[in-house]
Amino acid sequence: MFDTVFLDLPALRAAGGTVRLPGSKSISNRVLLLAALAEGTTEVHDLLDSDDTRVMLAALRQLGCGVEQRADGVTRITGLGGKLKDDARQAELFLGNAGTAMRPLTAALSLLGGEFELRGVPRMHERPIGDLVDALAGLGCEIDYLGNPGYPPLRIHPVAHEGLRLDAPIRVRGDVSSQFLTALLLALPLASARQDVVIEVIGELISKPYIEITLNLLARFGIDVQREGWSRFTIAAGSQYRSPGSIHVEADASSASYFIALGAIAAPTPGQAGIRIEGVGADSIQGDIRFVEAAQAMGAKVESGTNWLQISRGHWPLRAIDLDANHIPDAAMTLAVMALFADGPSRLTNIASWRVKETDRIDAMANELRKLGAQVETGPDFIRIQPLAASTWRAASIHTYDDHRVAMCFSLAAFNPDGLPVRILDPKCVAKTFPDYFEALFSVSEPAAVPVICVDGPTASGKGTLAMEVARQLGYHYLDSGALYRVTGLAMTRAGLTATPEHEARIADMARALPLSFTDGKVLLAGEDVSEAIRTEAAGMDASRVSALPAVRLALADLQKCFRRLPGLVADGRDMGTVIFPDAALKVFLTASAAHRAERRYKQLISKGISVTLDGLRQDLEARDARDMSRSTAPLKPAQDARLLDNSDQTISQSVDQVFQWWEQVQPFEPLS
Ligand code: C5P
Repeated sequence: MFDTVFLDLPALRAAGGTVRLPGSKSISNRVLLLAALAEGTTEVHDLLDSDDTRVMLAALRQLGCGVEQRADGVTRITGLGGKLKDDARQAELFLGNAGTAMRPLTAALSLLGGEFELRGVPRMHERPIGDLVDALAGLGCEIDYLGNPGYPPLRIHPVAHEGLRLDAPIRVRGDVSSQFLTALLLALPLASARQDVVIEVIGELISKPYIEITLNLLARFGIDVQREGWSRFTIAAGSQYRSPGSIHVEADASSASYFIALGAIAAPTPGQAGIRIEGVGADSIQGDIRFVEAAQAMGAKVESGTNWLQISRGHWPLRAIDLDANHIPDAAMTLAVMALFADGPSRLTNIASWRVKETDRIDAMANELRKLGAQVETGPDFIRIQPLAASTWRAASIHTYDDHRVAMCFSLAAFNPDGLPVRILDPKCVAKTFPDYFEALFSVSEPAAVPVICVDGPTASGKGTLAMEVARQLGYHYLDSGALYRVTGLAMTRAGLTATPEHEARIADMARALPLSFTDGKVLLAGEDVSEAIRTEAAGMDASRVSALPAVRLALADLQKCFRRLPGLVADGRDMGTVIFPDAALKVFLTASAAHRAERRYKQLISKGISVTLDGLRQDLEARDARDMSRSTAPLKPAQDARLLDNSDQTISQSVDQVFQWWEQVQPFEPLS
């Protein structure tokens, strides 16, 4: 997961390969609640691991359910059998921004009989719940608003089932969020012991496919709901939740929309037949699977089988679309970005529910599409988007409103024809449903070029610390090229060789086949942790000697280039900017006076308990610099286009700030405010 302030997606030009998607959020949280209400243990396979399911699992634990997350990925839920234990009749539950936890738990806890407080993040306290509370109050449940009337946080009081008014139908509005009806359907079997429970929907029910998921899963848990159209639902007297024992969660069809769109937009990677999505097929129980039809209407070629989809570019540019998107509210956001690649203006209508989701999604999409240069019109329940012609795209910093779907769908803008990067602010918001979304995107995308920042300079100039910090803040990969020479030096010494011309070819062969890996900040050579061994002064000297051999440098060049992967690389060394990555977008040559460098190294070694003298260190350091600068191949020197940074009198964070300032100067984005 990218836990950075922003993530820059370089321009992407092609895509191909296979992605396995995480489990559906809607199915996951419904299954968890049903398993919690049922008697016995349910083994849940392929459960989504995300913010929303984590808050649900935490809540279920607080309510006394058994929750066991096994190493093989199976989650075992031992349910309450419809009754709270005595020591779990009071709890304060924090439900983040998970509507799929807040709404159904409100209904279930109102009927389970206890004192509960339900809260969430500030945005959750702006998401309406009044219609559900009204319906429950009509039934006789007691719920107080602790903040604004109609919104969480809530306090729920216990009520006796005998006092519930079940003779008349329970009425609930269906035109704001279908989650209210879902919440009642999931919870009301708790009250159906002695008589039928009837729910009546007032107003036109939106997002019907989500109700289908609910009914489908209720059936899996032994609850049969009779429905008359979409306005009247009856839970038969005597209904009881029965665990199916084991249940599989389908991959998230809404998450699939980004990869379906990707297949439709991106040119295929040579040798690949588009994008294959595993975990969900066209026969999915999730309503958002109908996104496939919309994507096909826009030009995507789609094949499908049990639990898989295969997508490739068909009509190009995409065809504009005019769609009532009420049946695919979440996935339709992806269409709004696809519309930028269309042959005319597209319109999505009947999407008023967008306004009460994680953020006001109509406004959010319009704002961010405009930043890319698009002309957008909106109304209470529609959005109209003009496509963007080549040469009219703008490099935008996309604000994501703590809304995973905004972040994910705007990543597709990286396929713009103008070769512009896209900056996604707060990329970790994807954790709500798809923590590794960007990793999955990168695994099937081919960039026009992967950006590289080089930090070269003499020994002990602090380039490692600087480069690592810059990499961390950008979410980029990091290459410590010195470590490769150090490991080669170590391998050489262990093999009884010396850095001389007669051993050069053998050392180069060893370098080419180094069984090297970088894991959790450790350097492993054939599985052995050599992180400490390569950091000694003697190892530095060996590295310096071995690095003067041209054949060794050549052998390590390809290995170093392999580190250049999406989304970007920060590489430190001596010749990163001059030889290995001459096309790097930013090259920094970091220096400090020999006195400063010797003192830094001295403090470092003394703190590790290694006894050295300052004078001795300075002499070593100068000897290494002299050798590095005078060798015939790739001598240490600033690249012609490098920016010089003398950090003798700077703190690390001052140097980092300087590098970021330069980085922003070579980026096409508006500066971050
Ligand atoms: O950066 P570090 O001190 O770990 O590098 C160890 C030695 O490896 C350097 O003294 C230098 O001789 C060599 N080196 C190199 N080219 C690089 C990185 C390191 O020649 N890109």
